[in-house]
Amino acid sequence: MPHTAELIAVGTELLLGNIANTNAQVLSQSLSALGIDVFWHTVVGDNPERLKEALDIARRRADILITTGGLGPTYDDLTKQTICEAFGRPLILHPDILEDIRAFYESALHVPMPENNTQQAELPEGCVIFDNPVGTAPGCAFEAEGVHVLMLPGPPHEMGTMLRRHVEPYLRRLSHEVIVSRDIMTFGMGESSIDELLHDKMARMTNPTLATYAKPCEVRLRATAKAATEEEARSMLAPVERMVLDALGDIVYGVDMMDLAECCHSQLLRRGLTLATAESCTGGLVAEKLTARPGISAFYRGGVVSYWTSVKADVLHVPQDLLDEYGPVSAECARAMAEGVRTITGADLGVSVTGTAGPDPDERGVPVGIVYVGLAAPDGTWCRALDFGRRRRDRIQGLAANHAFDVVRRYLQGLPIEAV
Ligand code: ATP
Ligand code: MG
Repeated sequence: MPHTAELIAVGTELLLGNIANTNAQVLSQSLSALGIDVFWHTVVGDNPERLKEALDIARRRADILITTGGLGPTYDDLTKQTICEAFGRPLILHPDILEDIRAFYESALHVPMPENNTQQAELPEGCVIFDNPVGTAPGCAFEAEGVHVLMLPGPPHEMGTMLRRHVEPYLRRLSHEVIVSRDIMTFGMGESSIDELLHDKMARMTNPTLATYAKPCEVRLRATAKAATEEEARSMLAPVERMVLDALGDIVYGVDMMDLAECCHSQLLRRGLTLATAESCTGGLVAEKLTARPGISAFYRGGVVSYWTSVKADVLHVPQDLLDEYGPVSAECARAMAEGVRTITGADLGVSVTGTAGPDPDERGVPVGIVYVGLAAPDGTWCRALDFGRRRRDRIQGLAANHAFDVVRRYLQGLPIEAV
């Protein structure tokens, strides 16, 4: 029998909209990777009657209930007590856990343990204990009448640590199947066009499955196989990957990658080449996405945010007559910016972005959404001209930044650069 899970987030703050239920998102991602269907997300306040009601409903329709929140020491932390009442389990004090909590206060927080923390050392009789190395409240799991109940702390980093250390292994033991996914990353074609190309094939697939996920500015295809062993699942995925590659060609930039920045990162490292950036309308977004990754200094020399035309001229040495003739939002300027930053930094590759992010046209009347991405390399200079239309400013900037990465990765992969 396949398992069905319900996630119950406990916390009045969630209902008031003070915080978003990110625990549910993280848990759902993890359960889906484990092949466990999550059919319901429930949110309930710090109220024992309503939590009990939620539990009564959940135990009838799911056989894995996972709660987050309300395991702390304060008066409104009622999850454990309420669950134990609902499932008729007594709470047992664990002196060794109490000592651990006391030690955590003294050595990590340098204060004596407040006495009401004692209740965190009380756990349902016969439960599996999930220790909490980054906080005080342990989590736990027990089985009652065929239903597995798992209780996890609310703070996301405590929940996440416990999820990886304890919950995933616990759930893996319940499931007899192995689920393996491959993320095929694409850039340059919209989700609907990809869907049109692959829809018939995707609709016919049951195991493996193939689904599209549109991230801002790019599309990820996730192929997922269920099998008895990991090897078997992997071998089922290989032909799916080949089919997608045949259908989509060079818009596929990698497999199991985070984004285009990661793709550029690994390609530049492999080729031993350095990069520099010159940005106008993206205001440093390309540099930010690059430097968000550790290990970047191996190949990223630096960048210039040349917002004013005078900075394009004075810092990047874009010729003044070129600026006068074509304007700062032009293919000529994008090329000169890329060449300029490549020269002043001594990098192997210079990439540039100049455009009109809106909401108003630039001072020369270039409409919103016109963007030029330049690339200067030892063997030439290229420019990709783009028209994103009247989109939101942040969308235009995000797309423009991704195109900057795309010209770099296409250069590194020996593909045509200027075409989109
Ligand atoms: P503590 O020991 O800190 O009291 P707890 O297990 O009792 O932990 P809560 O008191 O319910 O958990 O929540 C503590 C904090 O964790 C909240 O203030 C909030 O910042 C965060 N949090 C709780 N639930 C969620 C959730 N579902 N998604 C994201 N963050 C959450
Ligand atoms: Mg609490």
